[in-house]
Amino acid sequence: MEKTLLLKGVKAIVTCDAEDRVYRGADLLVRGGRIESIAVPQAGAGAGDCAVPQAGAGIADTGVPQAGADIAGRSEVAADEVIDGSRYIVYPGLVNTHHHFFQTFVRNLIRVDFVNVTLAEWLDEIYRIFAHIDGDVIYYSSLTAMADLVKHGCTTAFDHQYCFTTATGKTPIDRQFAAAREIGIRYHAGRGTNTLPRSEGSTMPDEMVESTQEFLDDCARVIGLYHNPDPLSYAQIVMAPCQPINCYRDTFTETVRMAREAGVRMHTHLCEGENDIMLERWGKRTLAWAEEAGFIGDDVWYAHGWDLLPEEYAVMGRTGTGVSHCPTPAILGGSPILPMQQMQRAGINISLGCDGSATNDSSNLLDALRTGWLMQAWHSKARGGCISPYEMLKIATVNGAKTLGRTDIGYLAPGMAADFFLIDADTLELTATAHDAKNLLARTGVTGPVAMTFIGGKAVYADGKIAGIDERALAAEGAEVLARVLSGKCAAYQNLD
Ligand SMILES: [Zn+2]
Repeated sequence: MEKTLLLKGVKAIVTCDAEDRVYRGADLLVRGGRIESIAVPQAGAGAGDCAVPQAGAGIADTGVPQAGADIAGRSEVAADEVIDGSRYIVYPGLVNTHHHFFQTFVRNLIRVDFVNVTLAEWLDEIYRIFAHIDGDVIYYSSLTAMADLVKHGCTTAFDHQYCFTTATGKTPIDRQFAAAREIGIRYHAGRGTNTLPRSEGSTMPDEMVESTQEFLDDCARVIGLYHNPDPLSYAQIVMAPCQPINCYRDTFTETVRMAREAGVRMHTHLCEGENDIMLERWGKRTLAWAEEAGFIGDDVWYAHGWDLLPEEYAVMGRTGTGVSHCPTPAILGGSPILPMQQMQRAGINISLGCDGSATNDSSNLLDALRTGWLMQAWHSKARGGCISPYEMLKIATVNGAKTLGRTDIGYLAPGMAADFFLIDADTLELTATAHDAKNLLARTGVTGPVAMTFIGGKAVYADGKIAGIDERALAAEGAEVLARVLSGKCAAYQNLD
């Protein structure tokens, strides 16, 4: 018997569907991990009737429940669990499309200061720390990042895992899937790599370099073990060489061949300030280089892209290639702010990412959502307007799902995965904001954790707790691992008081 959950009389349900519907006072019924219905009260409806919204029939943020309406009698009887939704606003789960979980253990390091050094200097410093990372750091840092994500409304996360050291061996993706199962999040693992040694011009320490063949062999292993392309999947693999300047060309061309054969998607860092090196090395900019390698298309997305030229937007749009925009590192690194409207007009699918914590220090995607919108607003006068806060929410939901190739997540409708989060709109700090539920998140912002996060209809985060784990015990274990593997050995963590 599939379990049912009923959110009853919800203050507002922001669906992010193609009609941008918002329902007020509706009931949301979940069965077996999917949304079964979103039912709106109908005046005069008889007991047991359940009005399922039809296209165009939504009450579209203006309707209010009618006095005497009697709905969801059937749902009430059937539901195993009922939640009074009258103080909550429900949103589709956020989708994170760029991160480096392992970097949550290199946070808050003022001596490795991304803000005040050049990228080359920063890479040189930070990789000295990365080179120590072992499998336990991968596991606990992934738990840390994913806890932050689910507490702030993220239900599906991609991670770009390129930290394969002598100490980790080939275990990182396995350790990350173990962590994802503990948290209950949908996890898309980007199997990254760096193949070019420092002696040939890369920024990588030798302990973190693999051969292309090693990389391909491990991709085949993890695809075979974990990749599930079915609807409601909790585990997928993406082939994700770290960046063109730190890999041989054949790492990319072989990735294209293998990924398309296996039916997995591809990802890399691109146009984040490396074009001068690519021009010197290859005589072409990175996008042209990637295009020539075949590493472009609607199964590919790049992180950042702030260095793309307007004429390159057309190439991206024509080929269906996506961009993951990571607002916080763009600010910390002083990078140009993406002209999102111009890029979207060119047909680029833009999604949202936290990016790794070495250049963010946080895995709070709600924070990235608001920061990203504020950045757009900052240029609105000069650029003739900017996207709305609600459009930023759709970038973090609908566009994220499209980026990952998922048709079962990203918006709320019958048949879709029951991935959503609730904010308590009856708190004092949110007073006088619920009249515009669509624009609230990016415009007003929600500080602190959300009220509840559901993934596949299961409350993975509620009442201040992540379900099924002893959070404080895991945090203590993580702190021990940090001390043993990193902070005890690296000066950047020491004598800071
Ligand atoms: Zn990154």
